[in-house]
Amino acid sequence: MNLSNVPAATSRTCSRSSVVRSASVCTCSTVRNWVASSSSAREAARLLAALPDEDRALWATAFYAGARLGELQAMRVRHVQSDGNDVHVLHVQHGWDRKTGVIEPKSRAGVRAIPIPSVLRTDLVEHIERTGRSGDAFLFGRTGAAPFTDSHMRKRARTAWAKTCTCGHALTEHREGKCDSCACAGFAALAGIGFHECRHSYSSYLDAAGISETRADRYMGHSNGSMRARYTHQLPAQLAEDAVTLDAYLIAAGSGKVVSLPTGARTGSQVAQTG
Ligand SMILES: [Zn+2]
Ligand SMILES: [Zn+2]
Repeated sequence: MNLSNVPAATSRTCSRSSVVRSASVCTCSTVRNWVASSSSAREAARLLAALPDEDRALWATAFYAGARLGELQAMRVRHVQSDGNDVHVLHVQHGWDRKTGVIEPKSRAGVRAIPIPSVLRTDLVEHIERTGRSGDAFLFGRTGAAPFTDSHMRKRARTAWAKTCTCGHALTEHREGKCDSCACAGFAALAGIGFHECRHSYSSYLDAAGISETRADRYMGHSNGSMRARYTHQLPAQLAEDAVTLDAYLIAAGSGKVVSLPTGARTGSQVAQTG
């Protein structure tokens, strides 16, 4: 590889800085410290479990596909795709603007296919069945014809998270400070997050799972200068492979087991986040 073609670390897109270089500037948002604004796979699993059933698929897509808020708002049911061979892909084609509606993505790299890990597939399938939506209907819309609003969905989530303990059990399962179902130290509500924190978390999962840097940039929709032009194709086999890799990490890390990273993983974080 000709190193002169590789952008310097600080000007690179933020996906790789999440775990390894917390001081690096995140170019995709105003959030500067990725480590502080990411939820571990285990925290994500707790946050998702605490949500009302009808809201879970939206947040799961934010956590496990890393789509931007506007991309989630603009997403249609037809963008969830299966090729019949167990390759499940989420297509991102547009963003959403509160005033103007559907907008083109920030850059060509914004149009992309993201592998759907099984932890996300289950929620998406249930969601589509529950809403009965298809085709051009908004996947997560307030209705099939109107997108969701950020503030409304965050408020509903915050309400649910405030009633759930970090031990994973509901407030109602705690009596006199003690949990009926486990030995937690007393009720402590889950800390609420926003959609961009989910995107940061996704980036750190890709990193911790050992997904290649190039592919991670593709899935994040990062425009990456000279790198982008060289990797415009996403082969179905790559998407399937990365879904499996990500799943292995998320399932193990989400349940608190020790994760052994695949050989060849090039991140500096050899120990997966399990806390
Ligand atoms: Zn508890
Ligand atoms: Zn408990």
